[in-house]
Amino acid sequence: MYNIMTPGPTRVRENVRLARSVETTNPDLDMAFFDYYKETCDLLGELVHTKNNVYILCGEGILGLEAACASLTEVGDRVLVIDNGIFGKGFADFVKIYGGTAVSFVSDYQKQIDSQALKAFLEKDSDFKYATVVHCDTPSGVLNDIKAICNLLAEYGILSVVDSVAGMFGEYVNVDDSKIDILCGGSQKALSAAVGLTMLYVSDKAIASMENRKTPIASFYANILTFKNYYRDKFFPYTQPISEIVSLRAAIENVIADQDILERHRRIAAATRSALQKAGLELYLKAGFSNTVTAIKIPEGLTDEQILSTIREKYNVMLGGCFDILAGQVFRIGHMGENARVEYMLEALDALTRTFADLGRPLRCSLGDAFIEAIEN
Ligand SMILES: *Cc1c(COP(=O)(O)O)cnc(C)c1O
Repeated sequence: MYNIMTPGPTRVRENVRLARSVETTNPDLDMAFFDYYKETCDLLGELVHTKNNVYILCGEGILGLEAACASLTEVGDRVLVIDNGIFGKGFADFVKIYGGTAVSFVSDYQKQIDSQALKAFLEKDSDFKYATVVHCDTPSGVLNDIKAICNLLAEYGILSVVDSVAGMFGEYVNVDDSKIDILCGGSQKALSAAVGLTMLYVSDKAIASMENRKTPIASFYANILTFKNYYRDKFFPYTQPISEIVSLRAAIENVIADQDILERHRRIAAATRSALQKAGLELYLKAGFSNTVTAIKIPEGLTDEQILSTIREKYNVMLGGCFDILAGQVFRIGHMGENARVEYMLEALDALTRTFADLGRPLRCSLGDAFIEAIEN
């Protein structure tokens, strides 16, 4: 088996894997399942400090982003796309598919969004139905201050859609204090459940905006309103993937039991960055480092393929490459969820040290030793 150190999907713990195999009921007919689903949603809400509506949708993380845009956007709506990364930029595509006009606020991909610059932009133009922003933009690992950004958007009466697929559970999120109208999460990142589910946290304001549309939502599967009354009516818009939800529940319980989870992510991320720099590698970001993923520049004269295939084939460690404008520019270590454990990190970093030596480019020091030194201090 590979040591999967990618920024999602992440390693899935045994109790979560086993939970998928328990005998299940018919989720359309068994009333107890409606309670189980709702309790699971309530736990998800508690973890990010919100009383907003929570829904689990059957579809990989991308479904949540599309559902937010599909449910809010009407033809001709202006939408602000806050773009300092590849997922940030990508929201414009969803907006356009549903007939909206995407206006981008583009900023340096190597740093977090500057809220003051965003405020200056909004002073001139704030006629937007909603805005999209990514919490941790995984291709670079940049972390945005969603609390500052969404509070600012709220001051201008703009609804907020936040993609925290690669942030939440590894980074602190407080939906209510941050005034986030729709928060999107996925099962396969820091929650460390299997791929396949989206979690959506939806404010009453966002629901009202969907209900007050002049035109119908141009989707069935991505229509958030189809879930609105599931509990009252004891009816889901489609059969729920019960085994996946039972398994997700086990992963949620793991996170609840893991009191130290955010601090562990912070320590591991900081020690990883410190070790990489000490060994002579260069981080892609200048500022705004997330605690869930680190992007490292490919050194001159090497390719991402050489590094990734050597470490995978020779040492059984999977690291991430990149795509879009960062294709071939960086490789990534995902230290989120179950990956964020000292033992797995050490194994990956030792393998990376050996990989660079194998490629004829020995590092200045052992990454593993530097990591241990940094994590103890
Ligand atoms: C992983 C991820 C998603 C979901 O997309 P994938 O198809 O799983 O890559 C959405 N947004 C962000 C920021 C992610 O990291």
